[in-house]
Amino acid sequence: MQASGLSSEPNYSRRSFFGRVSQWSALFAAYPLIPLPNLVESLASDSRVAQTPVVDKGFASVRKVGEGLYATISDTSKGLQTMCNGGFLAGKEAALLIEGFVSPAGAAFQHEMLRTISQTPIMGAIDTHYHFDHSMGNSYYGANGIALWAHINTSRRIFESYAAMQGVDKSVIVGPIEAQAKNAKSEMARKHAEQYAATIGNIFGVANATVVALPNRPLDPAKLPIHLDLGGLTAVVETYPGHSGTDVIVRVPAQNVVYTGDLLFNNMYPVTFDGQASVSGWRSTLKTFLSWSKDTIFVPGHGQICGPEGVQLSLDLFDDVEQQAHKFHKAGVTAEDAADQYVVPEKFKNVGIFAWSLSIGPTITKLYKEWDAK
Ligand SMILES: [Zn+2]
Repeated sequence: MQASGLSSEPNYSRRSFFGRVSQWSALFAAYPLIPLPNLVESLASDSRVAQTPVVDKGFASVRKVGEGLYATISDTSKGLQTMCNGGFLAGKEAALLIEGFVSPAGAAFQHEMLRTISQTPIMGAIDTHYHFDHSMGNSYYGANGIALWAHINTSRRIFESYAAMQGVDKSVIVGPIEAQAKNAKSEMARKHAEQYAATIGNIFGVANATVVALPNRPLDPAKLPIHLDLGGLTAVVETYPGHSGTDVIVRVPAQNVVYTGDLLFNNMYPVTFDGQASVSGWRSTLKTFLSWSKDTIFVPGHGQICGPEGVQLSLDLFDDVEQQAHKFHKAGVTAEDAADQYVVPEKFKNVGIFAWSLSIGPTITKLYKEWDAK
């Protein structure tokens, strides 16, 4: 046998290994680091909501929001182990975890917090949808024998979106967006495309740093809602349109507490880039949320815990983007150009934007499509 395979340069050099590791730590250079605001006054005085968190690790805190109900709230300005919000429900006979988070460390943190509060058997963990920041920590649950529940299309979409990035040259994924930035017609368009390239580069980094794990308990939307009896605590899993085509929420009607996943962003422009996101569908979902009891506590996918005022803000943001887009549409501005021309009004200047081209931009192009289809 020839030793042709034994070249002096191994295919996986230490340098390439450390390159991958540092990609993770440098991951969110472009992520908007918005500090978590305090609870709104109505919730700060709500008897269901604990005034102080059970634990505050910086990157996330866990707070009691009802009998046996806990919210895990991320503060991305302090760390990115969890990145999205989640929570857990601890009944007398069983517990349920919500979200796989962006990393196994995030899922581990939440599991450990549950275990400090309850030793009850775990029925499962739920990914509210397939997006990386809610699912790249799934392998922790798999390694710990915790069943993973999700919308029936979540597994396929995790695989197609993130496993498909693994081992691919980064330039294949990010190059076309960088070219778009180079050829941009305006300064705004260039800025948005550069930010988009950085964000997709970050997601590429996460996907390549992750041992992807897929949910093993598919939830067929035709069979939802389902009621989960945790022992003195009933959770209802429902599905609604809007954000990703794979969205499920966990609702506890007896206590008026809802874990919305990304169907609600509190104080952030809704993220609508997904091929299956629908502006009109999302608005109808938000209106359904508003039709529930006025004292409903919402645990959003991102941002602080809120009441109906957080849902109303999302609708107001959609309204504002729509009003401006409508003017562009009437003036004959193309969808592509209009997507960069929205101006954030003074009253929304403290509202977060998770990459323009994943939120405001696609909201405008989707509205154009809905109008042009009429
Ligand atoms: Zn999402």
